[in-house]
Amino acid sequence: MSDKLIRATSADNTVSIVFCNMLDTCKEAISLHGLKGIAAETLCRGLVGVALLSSTLKNKEDIVSLIIKGKGPAQGITATATQKGTVKGFLKNPEATGDTVGELLGKGLLTVTKDLGMKEPYTGQLPLVTGEIAEDITAYFAESEQIPSSCGIGVRFDDNGNLIAAAGFLIQLLPEVPYYVIDELEIDLARHPSPAELVLKYGNDYEKILISLLPSLHVQILKEQDIRWKCDCSKDKIEKALITIGKDELEQFITDGENAEIVCDFCNKKYNFTPQEIQELKDRI
Ligand SMILES: [Zn+2]
Repeated sequence: MSDKLIRATSADNTVSIVFCNMLDTCKEAISLHGLKGIAAETLCRGLVGVALLSSTLKNKEDIVSLIIKGKGPAQGITATATQKGTVKGFLKNPEATGDTVGELLGKGLLTVTKDLGMKEPYTGQLPLVTGEIAEDITAYFAESEQIPSSCGIGVRFDDNGNLIAAAGFLIQLLPEVPYYVIDELEIDLARHPSPAELVLKYGNDYEKILISLLPSLHVQILKEQDIRWKCDCSKDKIEKALITIGKDELEQFITDGENAEIVCDFCNKKYNFTPQEIQELKDRI
């Protein structure tokens, strides 16, 4: 695994820059979910997006989820990342086809949920701007967290449909940023740098990537973190989820007397429950 999340700063510490390279994580997700074409691109963008969001988490147990519910054929996407660098996600309808990610997701809502170990998770929600995900994350930070930001996500396939690049950046301005730095940043970003092109050109040389991304800012790398695909599902966690769906719904699992098969949405792992096990879960409600 060579996927990385890079944290960097401008020379004067007034601009925070996060860059992530997610090729292996996204390849694993595409293979696990059997995705092709634009459906594969949609999930990859969601995974890169949630990894970028995870850079704002502070504590080891913190978790962030990027949930899009859309009226397009994909119906939505759920992606989750931890502060420790694990990422997982799925497309509601993996069979969906279309021309663009925005078309696949359609009109809808973006929800960002951060579980920070408090009683209630922090939640921000807004209508999709374009459904292309990067622009929606930029809008989320502006509207829900009042942080001026710029998010870019790039996913590339070769002519045979194999994923060759999945990367993204999140640039955020700190309150004390001087105007001349904003001007320089705007000039740099007006070139519409593509994160996918940058990793295709410079590989994992993140210094060169960041210099090319923001040539005016004299960017300094602060930290590199590994990122990888990981689903933490278990029979125990599925049981806890089943208990929350209620007695009547659980009853439906045991009416035919056969084993119930529950599939994890994130990784497609199958869990079998005997009628007796379902009955025991019902008794615990
Ligand atoms: Zn799973």
